[in-house]
Amino acid sequence: MIANDAEKFKKVISHAKEYGFIFQSSEIYDGLSAVYDYASYGVLLKNNIKEYWWKAMVQMHENIVGLDTAILMHPTTWKASGHVDAFNDPLIDNKDSKKRYRADNLIEDYLTKQEDKINKEIEKAKKRFADFDEEMFRTTNARVLEIAEKKNVVYSRYVKALNDNNLEELKQIIIDCEIADPEAGSRNWTDVRQFNLMFSTKLGAVSDEADTIYLRPETAQGIFVNFLNVQKTTRQKIPFGIAQIGKAFRNEIVARQFIFRMREFEQMEMQFFVRPGEELNYYDHWKTTRMKWHLALGTDEKMLKFHDHDKVAHYANAAVDIEFNFPFGFKELEGIHSRTNFDLTQHSEFSGKKMQYFDSEINESYVPYVVETSIGCDRMFLAMLCNAYDEEIVNEDTRTVLRLPVVLAPIKVAVFPLLKKDGLPEKALEVFNELKFYHQCYYEEKDAIGKRYRRQDAIGTPYCITIDHQTLTDNTVTIRERDSMQQERINIENVLKIVSDKVDMNKILKTLA
Ligand code: ATP
Repeated sequence: MIANDAEKFKKVISHAKEYGFIFQSSEIYDGLSAVYDYASYGVLLKNNIKEYWWKAMVQMHENIVGLDTAILMHPTTWKASGHVDAFNDPLIDNKDSKKRYRADNLIEDYLTKQEDKINKEIEKAKKRFADFDEEMFRTTNARVLEIAEKKNVVYSRYVKALNDNNLEELKQIIIDCEIADPEAGSRNWTDVRQFNLMFSTKLGAVSDEADTIYLRPETAQGIFVNFLNVQKTTRQKIPFGIAQIGKAFRNEIVARQFIFRMREFEQMEMQFFVRPGEELNYYDHWKTTRMKWHLALGTDEKMLKFHDHDKVAHYANAAVDIEFNFPFGFKELEGIHSRTNFDLTQHSEFSGKKMQYFDSEINESYVPYVVETSIGCDRMFLAMLCNAYDEEIVNEDTRTVLRLPVVLAPIKVAVFPLLKKDGLPEKALEVFNELKFYHQCYYEEKDAIGKRYRRQDAIGTPYCITIDHQTLTDNTVTIRERDSMQQERINIENVLKIVSDKVDMNKILKTLA
């Protein structure tokens, strides 16, 4: 059974490898740090996440269109966007352990620990007093007040240091709070330095400065530079959006926590172009819309929350994260940013091309404002995997089951002949060969049926169809449901209709409309 969150996370990681979801990249060479390959079931799950996002964002909106731009872009793009000068993370090294950390993460983890201390005091008191009043306790208990006050002071200093880009102050906070290397325990720190996260490479055969290009650190810029092309060719009027799914690359300082922080990852981004002055209304609209998208998958609302940014990026006038409760705490899953007209204005300036829109309704030309929704496909994958992983005792045996949302499950239906004889495989293949045109199916005839069910439970297959001897006499099969393990007999003629109805993504999409 799962003892705690840390153990759960370990189990999720080894399950992902053992059951063909995720492999470490170049594993035979001991792997490449923070780069992963999606295995056979992983790619199916990932594709389903992308399909759910694309349908919800593009197919269901008459005013959102798609795009698929190149990873390599003209290097001036990244000058204009500010990434060459400002896409940095504050880095700090521990002189004893030689380990490298993000200074902001060390401080944030310290703040979370202080909050945990307060919660522990509350939990203790709750057990002692029957008529416990949390609000009262928070505002009167001396110990809680002391921790909260210290925490607030550190928090204010931290936010100010971030906004002022004050690296000395970040280091001073780490020293004042006596923050130690989380792994080695040492407090022997270097100064804090800025580290640019972009990967660079050379274009063409001549290696001189001018040929340095970058692997895109976000997909958004491909959308901005194409704004006018897309607007003209799709005849969209403002407000409208452009959506894209694609790879992004960041040379992350610390890359732990499995696929949460990768150096090569995939983003699903949508830029929504609006009239100046209307951006904050749309920002609220997209906050609500995106949260609905997450909840429609059946995720418990306690697992998701909004978190306003402590420091708004140089290009934004409002920013919020949708955080998911990963086994290592609430962390960013998706960002929603009101990016003003910063990017289009910058690209106009650097390219010398006007990035304006003529709004015939108000007879005015302007540079549109932008509201962005940006979610990491891999983080969504990890959130779904962690949320789904479960162990339970069944008949004195541990059953591991991935309770994935049906629409995301890699395999929708497995088809099994009960035995590998008596014409059962032939009949089962008939069923498989009909279903395969509509759904991702799986066929297997090896091993005892119980074992085959368990393997499907472990990869999250919501339905198993079994063909047995009764099938040959009355044309019925059993359909087994993953979570309840209940089996029902249904007519073979109805299998496709019943399965299609159960796994229909449109039902969820309709709840978003
Ligand atoms: P973080 O604060 O965790 O570094 P961020 O604020 O830099 O993330 P954004 O630039 O807003 O992230 O990117 C949008 C989304 O892309 C994030 O919400 C996240 O889901 C995903 N993402 C960003 N960096 C990574 C990464 N290194 N690995 C996997 N996904 C990532």
